[in-house]
Amino acid sequence: MYVAVSISLVNQRDDILSRTAYAIINKSQVDINVITLPPLDLSQNLLIQVWNRDYQLIRKNFPTSFTGALDPVGLHSITPIWRDVKLGDDHLRVLTVPIVIEGSQRLVGTLQLATYLNVVESTQRVLLIVLVIGIILSTTTAGLAAWISTKQALTPLEAVTQNALQITRADDLSRRIPYQGPENDEVGQLIRTFNQTLSRLENLFNSQRRFLADVGHELRTPLTVIKGNMDLMRRMSQIDDESMASIESEVDRLTRLVGDLLLLAQAESGKLPLARRLVELDTVLLEVLHQMRVLAKDRMQMRLGEIDQVLVCGDQDRLKQVVVNLIGNAIKYTPPDGEVLVGLGKVDNRARLTVSDTGPGIPSEDLPHIFERFYRGEKSRTRTKEGKGFGLGLSIAYWIVRNHGGQIEVAPREPKGTTFCVWLPLAQGDCQEEPKS
Ligand code: ADP
Repeated sequence: MYVAVSISLVNQRDDILSRTAYAIINKSQVDINVITLPPLDLSQNLLIQVWNRDYQLIRKNFPTSFTGALDPVGLHSITPIWRDVKLGDDHLRVLTVPIVIEGSQRLVGTLQLATYLNVVESTQRVLLIVLVIGIILSTTTAGLAAWISTKQALTPLEAVTQNALQITRADDLSRRIPYQGPENDEVGQLIRTFNQTLSRLENLFNSQRRFLADVGHELRTPLTVIKGNMDLMRRMSQIDDESMASIESEVDRLTRLVGDLLLLAQAESGKLPLARRLVELDTVLLEVLHQMRVLAKDRMQMRLGEIDQVLVCGDQDRLKQVVVNLIGNAIKYTPPDGEVLVGLGKVDNRARLTVSDTGPGIPSEDLPHIFERFYRGEKSRTRTKEGKGFGLGLSIAYWIVRNHGGQIEVAPREPKGTTFCVWLPLAQGDCQEEPKS
C-alpha cells in the first residue's frame, strides 16, 4: 500500500511536470527568446527555468535570487530526464527537457521544471505512521480475538479432560460427560462420541463381569455334584454305580460347557477355523432331522416343509451344529403334541433355512437378548436339569452364521410359537469342492 501510494504520487507529479513542459515548448514554437513562462503557480508549486544552448539562464518563473540550475547534472542531458534533487532543505523532482528545433534537430536550449516533493514525503510519512499504527492495532485485536475464541473453544474441552480424569480415577464407567452447548458443533460431537465409547466400554465390562459370574455358576453345580458323589463313595468305601453314572453325566456336561465356551471365544474373535468347502445344506438338514426324530420320539410331530437343493460355501460340521442347535431348541421348548416345521429354499442369492415350532414363543422382553452368551429365558431357567441348557446354543449359532457371512433372525410364529430363520450366501465360484468320502 505504501509503495503503491508513493509511486502514484510521484507519477502524478511527473505528469504535471511533463504536461507543463510540453505546453511551454509548443507555445514558444521553439524560439527560446519568445518563451513565455506561466506565472508561479503556488497550488502546483512549479519552478521553471529556461537555459540557452550556452547554459546561461535566460528565464525563470520564481523571484528568489537563486540562479543555479535546478538540476545541474540533468542540464547536460540530450534527452528528457527526471531526477530527484536535494536543494538545501528541500527535495525536488526535476524534469529537464532539451529544446530542439523540429526538422533540423538543432538544440537551442534547455527547459527545467521542478516541483517540491515535500508534500509527497509528508504524505508518505503520515501514511507510514497510519500503517504502522494500523498494523499494530489490527495485530493486537486479531491476537486478542484469537486468544478469546480459542479460550472459549477450549474451555469445554478442559471440562471433558477433567471429567475423563474423574471417570478414570473413580473407575466409574456409568458416568457421562455433560455438555450444554449445541449438539452438532465439534465439541458436541466429540463429547457425544466419547459418551458412546463410554457406554460401549461399560457394556463390555458388565458383560465380562456377568460372563465370569455365569461361568462360575455353571461350573460350580456339576463340580458340587461330582464332589458329593465322590464323598459318598469314600464313606461307603465302595464304588457305587449310581454315583459313577451321575459323575459321568456331570463330567460330560462340563466337557460340553468347556467345548462350547472355547468355540464361542474363537467364533467371537473371528478366529474360528472354518473350512471353505461346498456344503449341500439340504443333505445336512435331512441328516439332522433324521437324528433329531429320535430325540423328539413320539412326543411331537416333526414336519419337513418345502426343501430345495441348496449349495453353500463353508464348514459342514459347524453349519450342522447351527441346525442341531435350532431344531434342538424347537424340540426342547415345544410341549408334547406340538409341531416343529423345517424348510429350506433360495431367495435371491441367498439360502433361507427356517425352523419354526408351536411352542410357547419367546417373550418380547427376551427377544433382544437370546443371542447373548448365557442368556436364558425365565421359563428355561426353571427347567429340570436334563432339559437345562447353558444359554450358549443360540450365541454359538449366531457366531457361526456370522462367520459364514450370513444372518440369523427370530420372529414369533402365528398364532403361537417361534420361527428362526438363517440366511446364508449361496456358493459362488471361489469355493473348494466337497471332499469325496
Ligand atoms: P438354552 O441352552 O437355554 O436353550 P439357547 O442359547 O439355545 O440356550 O437359547 C437361549 C434362550 O432362548 C432359551 O433359554 C429360551 O428362553 C429361548 N429360546 C430359544 N429357542 C427357543 C424356542 N424355539 N422357543 C422358545 N424359546 C426359545
